[in-house]
Amino acid sequence: MAAAEAAEGKFQAQALDMGIGTVDCPVFKDMYDYSALACGASLTGADMILSGSADAAFNPSGGLHHAGPERASGFCYLNDMALACLVLAEAGKRVLYLDVDVHYGDGVAYAFYDRSDVMTISFHQSPRTLFPGTGFEDEIGAGDGRGYCVNVPLPVGTYDQAYMKAFKVIAKPLIKAFEPDVIVFELGADGLAGDPLANLYLTNNTYAEIIKILLSYNRPILMTGGGGYNIENTVRAWALAWSVLVGAEGEHDSSYGLGGVMLESTEWQGGLRDRELVVSGQQRDAVLPALEATMESLKANVFPIHGL
Ligand SMILES: [Zn+2]
Repeated sequence: MAAAEAAEGKFQAQALDMGIGTVDCPVFKDMYDYSALACGASLTGADMILSGSADAAFNPSGGLHHAGPERASGFCYLNDMALACLVLAEAGKRVLYLDVDVHYGDGVAYAFYDRSDVMTISFHQSPRTLFPGTGFEDEIGAGDGRGYCVNVPLPVGTYDQAYMKAFKVIAKPLIKAFEPDVIVFELGADGLAGDPLANLYLTNNTYAEIIKILLSYNRPILMTGGGGYNIENTVRAWALAWSVLVGAEGEHDSSYGLGGVMLESTEWQGGLRDRELVVSGQQRDAVLPALEATMESLKANVFPIHGL
């Protein structure tokens, strides 16, 4: 009853048992409809991929990766990603779930923690410094799923080159070994430098590069949004990601030259891509040793399970 009342915008104390009515997951009118529509869009994308009517789909309203069973968490009430992966897996597909949101994709990782038909790979800011406080490199799955949950926690200040190094060293060989039939990609844009909720130092060029790598596997891709709390940067990142995903980057781009004029921003040069950011020697020294240690741990504990 508490959930039904909450969907009407009325709060009852029992709702808190499901994580509803907290600061992160407040009760609001049409809360259920909003979440169900976001899930429906991701499921529609999954259906289109299964029927062969699309090989790329993007749901910017999706990516609600924190929600658990009967448990709202971190702005997420219903987990569209877990549902989409489930539908694809139940159709017999090997599903790669890749999550580059700055927060750990915990709801999806735990939904498939003991399964080997859905591999979850999450790159996120270290749980030592960011919500949800889980997602360490030694959380690698259990039972049949051992080695199929891959977490790459990243130090504060992680920048493009360091991030891509970790992606190439850890994600690429694992994806190749797993041989997915379909890729589900959670593209939260809160890892971008300047995001008010997090502390990474990425540009959207990293997301574009990752999408190009994903396209090279020649598998259908269901992409969603996720977090992203610097709105201007997030919108531009998703527009760039979509254009790269469908091979249309640079076409009909009327935004060149508009940065300083339209948005009073001297950071944006126009176009969809971010300017490269300068990284200091001090920042490299702060990031690289911790990242190397994480990569070594994953190579030692996860790679052998996949014959690597
Ligand atoms: Zn996030």
